[in-house]
Amino acid sequence: MSDLNQRIIGMDLWHLELPVVSRRDHGIGSVEGSCEVVIVRLTAEGGANGFGEASPWSVFTGTPEATYAALDRYLRPLVIGARVADRALIMSKAERAVAHCTEAKAALETALLDLTGQISSLPVWALLGGKCRDTIPLSCSIANPDFSQDIALLQRLRDDGVRLIKLKTGFKDHAFDIMRLERIASDFPEFGVRVDYNQGLSIDDAPACVRDVASFKPDFIEQPVRAHHFGMMAQLRAMIDVLLLADESVFGPEDMTRAAREGICDGVSIKIMKSGGAVRGQSVARIAAANGLTAYGGDMFEAGLAHLAGTHMIAATPEITLGCEFYQASYFLKEDILETPFDVKDGQVVVPDGPGLGIRPDVTKLDRFSVTKAVAA
Ligand SMILES: [Mg+2]
Repeated sequence: MSDLNQRIIGMDLWHLELPVVSRRDHGIGSVEGSCEVVIVRLTAEGGANGFGEASPWSVFTGTPEATYAALDRYLRPLVIGARVADRALIMSKAERAVAHCTEAKAALETALLDLTGQISSLPVWALLGGKCRDTIPLSCSIANPDFSQDIALLQRLRDDGVRLIKLKTGFKDHAFDIMRLERIASDFPEFGVRVDYNQGLSIDDAPACVRDVASFKPDFIEQPVRAHHFGMMAQLRAMIDVLLLADESVFGPEDMTRAAREGICDGVSIKIMKSGGAVRGQSVARIAAANGLTAYGGDMFEAGLAHLAGTHMIAATPEITLGCEFYQASYFLKEDILETPFDVKDGQVVVPDGPGLGIRPDVTKLDRFSVTKAVAA
């Protein structure tokens, strides 16, 4: 059955624990051992499937348990029996059915887009407005508390043709951050360097630390202070001549509007897990651009399925100009969940052209890594 008026008859869920290769420290918390994601599969009456991923982080967006409950209990009734064609209606109902839970909404929208693409033989980027680029520069984050392990990662990234890195700062002390910036500048001059504090600085320390780091002329400095410290973000922005990016301060279009009005940033990190899906992520990018601000394709601790959703959004959004950070599938997870590897060549993410998301998850891996699931027999 090829038409989009067919009904959605199934929703399956998997809560996964995915083992990771190393510890990573960020300004707001750490990840060690594994990261947790929730996968949703929608089935239409003709038998087509669409997949989506929610990648929550408890200290940043929310918990996997809340994500799973939002999908299973509060969003499921909006989806079962609805027409595949009615994606905008379903997402607008989702907005009102459960507060926050942006990762659950992103997963739902991704699955609806993938399902629509599978049925219509169109890639998701075509459903989001068409393509503006075939590849996206990849940035990999440097966040290991053991810097010697990150030196090995930097060598591997250099060999792989990656030319952008983001140094995670503010989780130990300022001297550690400066030491790493100096070492990267001297030993790895090929890399464009970005810096991300993930809210790690106090408002007392922020001006001096940010001024020091700005002297290294990174491409940008991201979110030095807590999300709600809009006033300090605006002060730091005025103090330095390096781009200041907002991440945790801006989830959706509503936050972006306020951020632009209050002049807290020169650009924004856009993530479908914060905005609640690619369409709202595109709105964030357009509000930023209309206010003369730039945008970066951020991500959470994701598996390849969420990377794909973000990739299609960036492929269809010319306002996101600073590349992406979809590195976890290739450099952080011990094993990703996709049937074929998330495609990165010469430091660039390759935008897929196949139907839907372009690559499917391996369902045997979803079963193998799941801690909880609700899958129809
Ligand atoms: Mg960030």
